[in-house]
Amino acid sequence: MKRVLLILGILIVAALAGVFYLWDKIETKKLEMPDSYQTIMNRGYLIVGVKTDTKPFGYIDKDGQIVGLDIDIAKAIAKFLFRDEKKLKLVSVTPSDRLIKLTTGDVDIVIATMTVTPQRLDLIDFSHAYFIAGQTVLVPKDSKISALGELGNHNVGVIFGTTAEKNLRTLVPTARVFGYRTYDDAYEALNKGIIQAITSDDTILRSYALNNKSVRVINRKYSKEPYAIGVRKGKENKLLLEKVNFVVKTLVTNNSINHLYSKWGLR
Ligand code: GLU
Repeated sequence: MKRVLLILGILIVAALAGVFYLWDKIETKKLEMPDSYQTIMNRGYLIVGVKTDTKPFGYIDKDGQIVGLDIDIAKAIAKFLFRDEKKLKLVSVTPSDRLIKLTTGDVDIVIATMTVTPQRLDLIDFSHAYFIAGQTVLVPKDSKISALGELGNHNVGVIFGTTAEKNLRTLVPTARVFGYRTYDDAYEALNKGIIQAITSDDTILRSYALNNKSVRVINRKYSKEPYAIGVRKGKENKLLLEKVNFVVKTLVTNNSINHLYSKWGLR
C-alpha cells in the first residue's frame, strides 16, 4: 500500500512539474512576442490587406494593378516607414475574412473600407478615421423603392460581414437577405433580377451608379461609417499603431487627404 502511495505521489509531482514547465514556456513566449513594427522593418516591406472589388477604394484597374484611395494610404505608410512607397505587399481581403487575416498575422494592417464598430473594437485596434461613409441602397433605375424601410419582403443583397448586413437584419427584419462575398457578385444578381436591391456604403454603391445608368442610389444615408486602418491589439503592436496614426494625421493636417478624395472622385 505504502509503495502504491509513493508511486502515486511521484507521478503527481512529475505531472505538476510538467504543467509548471509548460506554463513557464507559454509565459516566456508571451513576453517574447516580437514587436510588429520591428518585424516589418526587419522584413523590409509592409503587408497590407486591401479590397480588390471596391471602387474607388481598392480595385483592379485596366492594367491589372490594384489601385484606389486605400492603396494610396498604404503607399503613404510604406513611404513613411521605408522612404519608398513600393516596399509594400498588397493582399486581397473581403469583409468576411479581413479580421481573420489580420488577427492571424497574414497581414500587418488592413486598409479596406472598414468601419470602426464597437464589436470590431473588441477584436482589433483602429487608427484615426480617414473617411466617413454612410449606408444606402442601390436599386434598378425604374425601381419603386425609395427608402431602406421599403426593403421588407424584397430580396436584398448584402456583402457578408459588412455593417450594412447587420443593420439591414436589425432595421428591416422582414427583408429577405441574400449574402454575397463580393460586390461584383451582388451586382450581377441585381442585374439578373435575383435581388431587387443592394445595401452597403454610399460611396461604394455610387461608383456602380456612376458607371451604369441602369441603376441608381437612394439619396439618403442610414448610418455613419467611419473608415479606419485595422491593427492587431496588444502592446507589441502599439508602436505600429502610433506610426500608422502619425501618417493618417499628417495626411489630414497637410491637406493631402483632400487631394486623394478629389483624385478618386470622392469630393
Ligand atoms: N464599411 C462597411 C464595413 O466595414 C462595408 C464596406 C465594405 O468593406 O465592403 O462593413
